[in-house]
Amino acid sequence: MNRLQGKVALVTGGNTGIGRAVALAYAVEGADVAIAWVDREPEAHSLVAEIGKLGRKARAIRCDVTSESEVVACMNEVVAGLGRIDVLVSNAGIQRPRPITEMTVGDWDRMMAVHLRGAFLTAREAARHMIPNKRGWMIFTCSQLGYIGRERYTAYSAAKAGVIVFMRSLAKELAPHGILVNGVSPGLVDTGFDPLSAEVKQAHAASLPMKRLGTPEDMVSGYVFLASEEARYYCGQLLHPNGGEIMP
Ligand code: NDP
Repeated sequence: MNRLQGKVALVTGGNTGIGRAVALAYAVEGADVAIAWVDREPEAHSLVAEIGKLGRKARAIRCDVTSESEVVACMNEVVAGLGRIDVLVSNAGIQRPRPITEMTVGDWDRMMAVHLRGAFLTAREAARHMIPNKRGWMIFTCSQLGYIGRERYTAYSAAKAGVIVFMRSLAKELAPHGILVNGVSPGLVDTGFDPLSAEVKQAHAASLPMKRLGTPEDMVSGYVFLASEEARYYCGQLLHPNGGEIMP
């Protein structure tokens, strides 16, 4: 408890799934939390209410992370409403598995835009607010598919590989400013993000050393740790909550 006392965090893709669990955990640990979402508005507002019940301030901001003007406005709203921004969790993502022969240029470009342009824009704007404060924490949601790839997930895997190297480059650039940049690389988490059948999920779970899929709650300890003072010597590192599927 209170490992993030007094910090202000922005979690993109914070209304559902992993981002929602992280936003709630941050509030439990004493942070005020803004979440950015794009489509599912009721989930965003219900989370603000839940965080309010924990005694923390919260904001839900509609922000498409691929839009420069929306990301700039979102950061300004966080600073105006919550005072500053200490922690960015760049977590927004989409999943559209396709055979390569059926993937359109639009599919490819959207995947790159949400994951890579979104990571770039949110990091740039957060850095502009964090650098004058000489402190900050950025955590990027990566994926083990960014290491190993998977058939039909070519665009997603390439985008996540890009996010991993972006995160590491940024870690080197921002560490001298007192900003720690790291990532979390989940295995398959049962959020509904990936449109897999129950049979495929069961088979995947059975193939894992831990014999079960991850839950959003399984992910949060890494995000809390990387935003806390305990992670003070972590720079450009990835945590791998994946049930043992890969051990990079
Ligand atoms: P969810 O579908 O629950 O979360 C995705 C989130 O991204 C939603 O909040 C969604 O908002 C938001 N989002 C999508 N597009 C945009 C956009 N253009 N601008 C702003 N927000 C956007 O899935 P997960 O929680 O599972 O996924 C969260 C992250 O975890 C993603 O980056 C994903 O790649 C990564 N990940 C997930 C794994 C899994 O197995 N689930 C495994 C490894 C990584 P809205 O609801 O409003 O549309």
